[in-house]
This record gives sequence, C-alpha cells and structure tokens, in this order.
Amino acid sequence: MRTKKLDFEVNEGGCFIVTSHRLNKDGYGHFRHQGIEHRAHRFVYQECFGEIPDGLVVRHKCDNPSCINPEHLELGTPKENMHDAIQRKRNAYGVRNGSSTIDDKMARNIKSMLKEGEPTRKIMNELSVSLKTVRLIREGKSWKHVDL
Ligand SMILES: [Zn+2]
Repeated sequence: MRTKKLDFEVNEGGCFIVTSHRLNKDGYGHFRHQGIEHRAHRFVYQECFGEIPDGLVVRHKCDNPSCINPEHLELGTPKENMHDAIQRKRNAYGVRNGSSTIDDKMARNIKSMLKEGEPTRKIMNELSVSLKTVRLIREGKSWKHVDL
C-alpha cells in the first residue's frame, strides 16, 4: 500500500498547513497510511514524539486544525480540546464582550455604509445595530482588523 506524501505550506504564523490531503469539515487534514485513516496532526505528533497516551488528544496551540507543525501541537484532555473548540467558535462570531456583538460581515457592512457617508441613524436602522457599535467603528475603536 502506497502512502501519499504528506505535503504542506508554511503560513505567516509558522503553521504547516496540509495541502496534499483533503481537510474534513472541522478543518483537520486526513490521510491514509497503511490502509488506516489518520488525522494528519495526530500522525505527525506520533511520528515526532511517540505514542499518544490513552484518553489524551493532540491539541493545536495555534488554534489551526489543519496545522501539522509539531511545535504547535501538544497533548491535552478531550475536555480542554472541547473548550478550545468553543472558544474558537466564539471568536469566529465576534465575542460578545460588550463592544462587539456583531460579526465580521456586519462590521464590513457598517464600514461600507460609513464610507459612503450614510448617516449613523440610517445605519442603525437598516442594520439593526446600536449607536455604540456604529460609533466605535466610525472612531476606529473596534473592528480595526476588518477590511472593506
Ligand atoms: Zn500551527
């Protein structure tokens, strides 16, 4: 049985992103080795550091499931891993920390309306967002990382 070589690209964060194999819906690289389906990061961890003890999982310190950089992998409990996943989901939707109860897409909408010179009140009505949200974006105090 031939194994397709595991290939990857290094991104700006130093992550090794699997390019040779398909990623599953969770973003994990999967590949076959000796007829067994492996999660790429688990396989790499075992190759570099040895067996994964029973009951433990391989976590990504970098929060990037498709990363196979051994330096970014560490052992954890399934509970910790679950916590990571929840954290990741929250981040993806913009943490509800008071100032950002909107997501990237909404931030982009607000920015584009501001750019077109739409009045704040109109933006608030059309997008159902608060005055505070619009103001923070207008003043460049939140969602600075979102580009139009
Ligand atoms: Zn990484």
